[in-house]
Amino acid sequence: MQAEIIAVGTEILLGQIDNTNASYVARGLADLGISVFHQQVVGDNGPRLDDAVSLAEQRSDLVVVMGGLGPTKDDLTKQIVARHLDRTLVEDEIAIKKIKLHYQQSDRLMGDSDRLQALYISGGHPLSNPTGMAVGDFIHQENWADFLVLPGPPRELMAMFSSEVVPLLKQTYLQLDHLTSRVLRFFGIGEAALARKLDDLISEQTNPTLATYAKDAEVTLRLTASGPSIQTNEARLDELEQQVKARVGDFLYGYGDDNSLVEVVIKRLIKANLTLTAAESLTAGLFQSTIGEVPGVSAIFPGGFVTYAAAAKTQLIGVPQATIAAHGVVSEATAKAMAQQARHVLKTDIGISFTGVAGPEALEGQPAGTVWIGLSMLNQPVIAREFHFSDDRQLNRRRAVMNGLNLILR
Ligand code: ATP
Ligand code: MG
Repeated sequence: MQAEIIAVGTEILLGQIDNTNASYVARGLADLGISVFHQQVVGDNGPRLDDAVSLAEQRSDLVVVMGGLGPTKDDLTKQIVARHLDRTLVEDEIAIKKIKLHYQQSDRLMGDSDRLQALYISGGHPLSNPTGMAVGDFIHQENWADFLVLPGPPRELMAMFSSEVVPLLKQTYLQLDHLTSRVLRFFGIGEAALARKLDDLISEQTNPTLATYAKDAEVTLRLTASGPSIQTNEARLDELEQQVKARVGDFLYGYGDDNSLVEVVIKRLIKANLTLTAAESLTAGLFQSTIGEVPGVSAIFPGGFVTYAAAAKTQLIGVPQATIAAHGVVSEATAKAMAQQARHVLKTDIGISFTGVAGPEALEGQPAGTVWIGLSMLNQPVIAREFHFSDDRQLNRRRAVMNGLNLILR
């Protein structure tokens, strides 16, 4: 099963907006075990869209066309696809009712162009739009490419994809097979490096399939198996997971879609009933703000410190002036003292500290991106680790936080 995505819109072509819909759809299809082999972008232009469709239908089993379903003159996706397939456009009654109601409720007059949004390609399956007016369309053709037509606004596209498209594609393509996926989460290895280590598996495996995604310095790997039963799928996934672990197991920290690094760390601390505080210099509260995102964190996090200037490090948590004078603020000794002192002041089990050069300028003769993270844990010697990130200030601050979380976990 080979899919192709065509994004329609001059704004995308000119780089005025990012083609986030394509990433979303490609990921969604990958989750169903459908691989995207090609993507195209075309402007709001009939003949060129027609060309793109011709090319796509020759080489792909499923062609997804997104954007241009609105009521205005430049919205011509359905008209072009219908003409291409030699089919007519028909009105979806439910959608017409919804549009009428919308205009009644807002006390406005419905124009002829508004009806266009209720059209779908005859013989196709209209897809209702939970957050908008334009209906989508799925056209299944024996012996020829299938078409999926989706609206451009990301909110509408995503809602339609999850509520309408996923069940329909499962029903159409995976009738006999169960689909099971497993998400492995990695930190400390980039997406490219991970993909390189798994290159042969990614390119050769067809069942289960492997797909990598990267977000916020974390990389996730989704393994998807299809087969006659969930048990056979799980067995296949177990086997593949072992192969993956043999190569990149050192970087694996967790499982599941919703378990980001911060969630895994905080949940683990809550479970172990270990309290945590932080003293932050270059991150200026970003670490605490990040752990604040996890519900229930208050059980283990009494509060912490933003100690930006040297004086604040001394006055708020009692880092000895002599330590800073002797070693500088960006140093192993200061990082250790900050972690230890923060823990001491709030009497927590764990104290973590961040001190470094956020950038873009150097500090104390150290280049931007130099970061020390200190960690003081009950009954363990205090440690500090040095990192060298980039000269990108925001990125350095985020990477410091993520590496701090990772340090707690290990
Ligand atoms: P509308 O009724 O809003 O006109 P439409 O289905 O005709 O809906 P478009 O006109 O193609 O959709 O796009 C509407 C808006 O959706 C665009 O201005 C853009 O902000 C966003 N959008 C369109 N295509 C994409 C895409 N591929 N990725 C991300 N955003 C997109
Ligand atoms: Mg439009």
